[in-house]
Amino acid sequence: MRYPHDFHRVNGALYCEQVPIARITAAVGTPVYIYSHRTLVEHLQKLQQAFAILRPLICFSVKANGNLAILRLLVQQGAGLDIVSGGELYKALQAGCPPSRIVFASVGKSDEEIDASLAAGIFCFNVESEPELEAINRLARRRKTLARVALRINPDVEAHTHHYIATGKKESKFGIDPKTAVKMLRRHAQLPGVRIAGIHLHIGSQITQAKPFVQAIQRGGEVIRQGRAFGAPLEYLNLGGGLGIIYKDEQPQTPQQFAKAVLPLLHQLQVRLILEPGRFIVGNAGVLVTEVLYIKQAYGKQFAVVDAGMNDLLRPALYGAYHEVIPTGRVTAARNGQGRYDVVGPICESADVLARDRALGRLGSGQQLAVLGAGAYGSTMASNYNGRLRPAEVLVRGTRWAIIRRRETVADLVRHDVVPHQLIR
Ligand SMILES: *Cc1c(COP(=O)(O)O)cnc(C)c1O
Repeated sequence: MRYPHDFHRVNGALYCEQVPIARITAAVGTPVYIYSHRTLVEHLQKLQQAFAILRPLICFSVKANGNLAILRLLVQQGAGLDIVSGGELYKALQAGCPPSRIVFASVGKSDEEIDASLAAGIFCFNVESEPELEAINRLARRRKTLARVALRINPDVEAHTHHYIATGKKESKFGIDPKTAVKMLRRHAQLPGVRIAGIHLHIGSQITQAKPFVQAIQRGGEVIRQGRAFGAPLEYLNLGGGLGIIYKDEQPQTPQQFAKAVLPLLHQLQVRLILEPGRFIVGNAGVLVTEVLYIKQAYGKQFAVVDAGMNDLLRPALYGAYHEVIPTGRVTAARNGQGRYDVVGPICESADVLARDRALGRLGSGQQLAVLGAGAYGSTMASNYNGRLRPAEVLVRGTRWAIIRRRETVADLVRHDVVPHQLIR
């Protein structure tokens, strides 16, 4: 099944919901990220409905898309937030997320980040090592409070995804091996500042099958049983994120299929469920729209040089990720097979290729292209490399749209630079 999204053509022109993309770019320029409110909400609701019987806490992963407007609209729909830094804690609170719906995972939480999270009263820390557990205990005691934590288990399962985004194999830096976790649970009562209330599993991203999740739950479940035998108060199982979406020809499980595969295991374990989806909710709710600067021919190849680059959307360069690219206007047929292009950005890096060898019809400068499936890990990974301004972001809701992030200005590029006159004249 193709997860529906709200980017579609009307008389040849690409629309987001009821708004023509061209109307937005005429006002805001390019490159620009454009998101559909409806797609975002519907994806969240699909997960809420599939797991309704467990009334799970669904914490959207802020690192997939941290725009305040998007966080706020998801929080209003009942989502919590999954954070990975003190910066994301700040954003979560700014977005109005109740602290009781914030979970915090990271292999390297600093004392400042832990303390700020304790001060805010977040729901749970997902703990990734013994020394981290001790640090949370020490800081919680200093505040005379009790921190709820879940141990993040590395279950050593093969997630069948890109090795950069597999996090549950034994050689990865994430999580605690089951043996160490059981040892920590045996000593759960020795740390009075923490309550080990759950187990956390996040085995990777863009996982299309239920099997790796099932295997991870089985291994996590074993830790839960052993921990409970030591009297550890394990109430929660956090399954992390990782649900795959369609970029090209993937056939990911639907939320219903996923729920059907894991619900029996969760019932057996008698746990409350937490999920941390990122990509599933926002991935195909957003596109990156870019304008063709030049068409260039070299050595028999044809390049569409566009005004968005790897600084705007890093996934193709970082992961070799595939994104569908389509003209936002009517597609015009090219003569004798000349309509194939490498879509490349202006950055001084050979890796700055958004798409290779795509049939895009006849293109010319000034035409616009939409890079689909760019909502997750798009704007959050944008940078100022090559002195480029990070793009604007726009949210569409029905017939209305609004800017949710202003395009940066050149002044932003030097805002934090200092020329120390005592060192440099
Ligand atoms: C990145 C991340 C997620 C979200 O992953 P998706 O694949 O985007 O769903 C969830 N939990 C943790 C701990 C993460 O690091």
